[in-house]
Amino acid sequence: MFEVRAKRKEQMKISGEKIVVAGLGRTGMAVARFLKRRGARVTVTDSSGDRDLADRADGLIEMGINVEFGSHNPYTFENAGLIVLSPGVPHTIEPVRRAVERGVPVIGEIELASRFIKEPIVAISGTNGKTTVTTLAGKMLEESGLNVFVGGNIGNPLIDYVDSENKAEIIIAEISSFQLDTIVTFRPGISVLLNITEDHLDRYADFNAYAKSKGRIFENQEGGDICIFNASDKHISSMTGNIRCNKIPFSGDEHSKGYKEYEKILNDRIDFNVEKNLAGSDPAFSGKFSLYFSEIGIPGRHNIENVAAATLASLAAGGNMAGIRSALKNFRGLPHRIEHVATINGTEYYDDSKATTVDSVNKALEVFSKPVILIMGGRNKGSDFSLLKNTVIKHVKKLIVLGEAREEIIASLGNIVGTVSAESMEESVNLAYGSARPGDVVLLSPACSSFDMFTSYSHRGEIFSRAVETLKRSN
Ligand code: ADP
Repeated sequence: MFEVRAKRKEQMKISGEKIVVAGLGRTGMAVARFLKRRGARVTVTDSSGDRDLADRADGLIEMGINVEFGSHNPYTFENAGLIVLSPGVPHTIEPVRRAVERGVPVIGEIELASRFIKEPIVAISGTNGKTTVTTLAGKMLEESGLNVFVGGNIGNPLIDYVDSENKAEIIIAEISSFQLDTIVTFRPGISVLLNITEDHLDRYADFNAYAKSKGRIFENQEGGDICIFNASDKHISSMTGNIRCNKIPFSGDEHSKGYKEYEKILNDRIDFNVEKNLAGSDPAFSGKFSLYFSEIGIPGRHNIENVAAATLASLAAGGNMAGIRSALKNFRGLPHRIEHVATINGTEYYDDSKATTVDSVNKALEVFSKPVILIMGGRNKGSDFSLLKNTVIKHVKKLIVLGEAREEIIASLGNIVGTVSAESMEESVNLAYGSARPGDVVLLSPACSSFDMFTSYSHRGEIFSRAVETLKRSN
């Protein structure tokens, strides 16, 4: 019943076609090269006119690819035979809308790549935890002896896999909502939907539009496919009633009524009770087993849920218990996700720069029983910071805000905890240090994107760590 099959693909004509690739980031570049190699007449367009884009474009121009920057020319879009959007380019922008009205098909890189991939795909989405679960499931399958390609939103586009010589037995793909916006036939053999909480409300019309986009991961799945989803997330469970795949719910709380239980999270362990034939490759697998929290090297209840999801996905994709246990033993989490940086005078400093949503900050705060000095702020993605009230009251002894969203954060939380405003990350760290006592925690967990002051969340985390290291040296 749980056989992971590669799907029959729709044929797609590329040679000689006039194809517009929107967005000149890593994905757009890879797509443009892929299409050109197959004989398409390719134009790449980007609304930015930055100098480094021009440098990047040189290689494409040498290949005979047309490059347009500075704006998206509506004429280029309307006259295309096909438009391939990068995840950074919303499908709702005017030139795309007008092209769609004229009947031009629009797809994204995931859709394009999936038409050429024969291997089974495990697709992982959710507001938070995608990269953690994708990485962990990839390691579990590798440790189970499978040849795995881990890609998608995690940093290496799936389209690069199509032409690579190294063929995998299975593809593990992190998929964002932006990538789901532009699927048509994309049908993963196994889908995983972790959670849906407020995010990207600067790009979607409202929360429902965002949630709907996430739900598209199930859209083309059929009986025989597998969907693994968080049954205690009310937005997810409300959309799983009519989906056609084999449902494997997981949950951090009580399972919603009507679901068979495949795992149960207790006080010290996760008890799994999966059907024997869910495990593809392990003849000794009995269906029942426990993973103890002491075996899990990443902090917090949310990571227990992540481990449950990754374990179920790995079993469904052919992993075995030895591989799952071995990967879990060695996995210490990813940089910039509740990452311990240093201990100075008995205060622990943590970098959680990747926490760009309110829910991820709530989850980080819940990890700590010690008083937290929280550094927050950056560019607001449409979040409601007052959703942090309860955890801030419970865990935070001082709040330090920086970046564009400072005033909004102060308006939401400033009256419940001592709050100060900083001009830079270095100043934030120094202010935190000034207030810290032995036994406290200093946590960078911004609830915002980094683009107002930094080039990326990792850049922001590195500047934080550097400031902490400087303090440590001066002590
Ligand atoms: P994503 O790829 O979805 O952004 P990551 O694994 O990179 O997810 O984690 C991003 C942030 O979300 C980190 O701060 C991390 O601690 C937090 N996080 C991870 N898993 C979860 C979860 N299941 N629920 C809420 N927050 C989570």
